[in-house]
Amino acid sequence: MNNLNKLLQAASFAAQKHTNQKRKGSNQEPYINHPLEVANLIANVGKVNDIDVLTAAILHDTIEDTGVTKDELTGLFGETVSGYVAEVTDDKSLPKAERKRLQIEHAPHLSHGAKLVKLGDKISNITDVTNNPPADWDLKRRQEYVHWGVAVVAGLRGANAELESYFDKLVEEAKRRML
Ligand code: ZN
Repeated sequence: MNNLNKLLQAASFAAQKHTNQKRKGSNQEPYINHPLEVANLIANVGKVNDIDVLTAAILHDTIEDTGVTKDELTGLFGETVSGYVAEVTDDKSLPKAERKRLQIEHAPHLSHGAKLVKLGDKISNITDVTNNPPADWDLKRRQEYVHWGVAVVAGLRGANAELESYFDKLVEEAKRRML
């Protein structure tokens, strides 16, 4: 399978798996917009052309949110891709606060590829919370979300200068708009 074929297979697979899901934002976007945005940010802001990283970006929420197994991803896309996805998958058996704390703790120890996926993920999520927050999130909850994202990204520094500076500008803008 060549690189373009692999990427398109991942896009189609993720679209099917996320088919009935919507983002939490008030405009209820189709979920697939998010993993596609993450992959696009890594490729076109981060200037990354590593096929396994971009494929993992498209698939990054399939284990956590759609019940796909790591073995299934390994069979379809190989061990490097499934490894990256597993690295950025939260353990849903843990309470939410603990999962959030562990993301901060684990960030510096992720592989380089998983750090890129995590950076793209945090950019996409904070963009959404800034521009189109969930209807029931008050200002304090949005601010706390941004602060948590900043803490996670602190552990990813050094992975990709372009994505990090994009993130920093986004956070400045988010803070301006959440005064
Ligand atoms: Zn995500």
